[in-house]
Amino acid sequence: MLKYLVILLDDTAVSYCHYENTKTEKRLISLDDLKAGVLFAMKHNLTIQFVYPDYELPAPHKEAIETIDHIKMMSSENSQNSDADVIIFQSDKSFTREKIDKNREKILVVKSSKKALSGIGKIISENDGKITRLNLVLTDIETFTEEDFAAYKQFLEKIRETVEKQYRNGQIPQINLLTDRILLEKMNNCNAGVENITLAPNGKFYICPAFYFENEEDNIGALSSGTDIKNPQLYRLEYAPLCRRCDAFQCRRCVWLNRKTTLEVNTPSHEQCVTAHLERNASEKLCNDLKSAGYFSDKEIKSVDYLDPFETIEKF
Ligand code: SF4
Repeated sequence: MLKYLVILLDDTAVSYCHYENTKTEKRLISLDDLKAGVLFAMKHNLTIQFVYPDYELPAPHKEAIETIDHIKMMSSENSQNSDADVIIFQSDKSFTREKIDKNREKILVVKSSKKALSGIGKIISENDGKITRLNLVLTDIETFTEEDFAAYKQFLEKIRETVEKQYRNGQIPQINLLTDRILLEKMNNCNAGVENITLAPNGKFYICPAFYFENEEDNIGALSSGTDIKNPQLYRLEYAPLCRRCDAFQCRRCVWLNRKTTLEVNTPSHEQCVTAHLERNASEKLCNDLKSAGYFSDKEIKSVDYLDPFETIEKF
């Protein structure tokens, strides 16, 4: 069932996930389409996530946004971001101590290439206690090699040590890669196409922003005609033969990445599964180590002997 509507307010709206937004020309959603999007959300009882460009919106757009409950997602470079709920750092370069300090209570999203990970690990450990919630998003998972997996494992070990120290000091930070798996009881993936869809500045709906930025023709309907998802079952967990048996509950299970790498929205790539299992295994160690400090006594993450569920497919 749909729960969220993502509204891209402009073609230059900040990217908050695996995809890249290469559009540089402004195209603001029309006021009529914005109001129609708000009405659509009201009728379907959806929470709206507004994704902002870096420039200030006209007053009528701001007023329309405030007519409904919503979440504001803005770039760390947006000078208007003081009332944002989610701050997005496009790279390690913008993820600075000063900006972390300024946005302590907010959800921080950091997009990172594999090369930038060690720098981000250092910033996380240096900003001990200042981060409440951090979502780290890898931007080049599909290019990971065996060497990159080894480096990712080391990166996770480093931030695991930081998070463990914080818990022992009485702080409870949330870092998606490590703490989500401990807190979750079942799969909690992105669920684009099932629990959320996106309205783009052209007045059309898409599975997620990545589908829009990749190809505007790839829409699933329009404000004028409603939504029409072809083979909607394929986006659902029950129709993903590997994922439905997997216990890397924190995995984003990105359907756009799936299609890009395997040509099927419900079949993940080896790289997506291995990175998710390295995170899962680091969470397992964190969970076990923190039991002696009084945390997670009723939680158990069982050890598994594989990093890619595809390797165990004959056991299913
Ligand atoms: S790790 Fe692989 S199999 Fe498991 S949920 Fe993620 S994409 Fe699906």
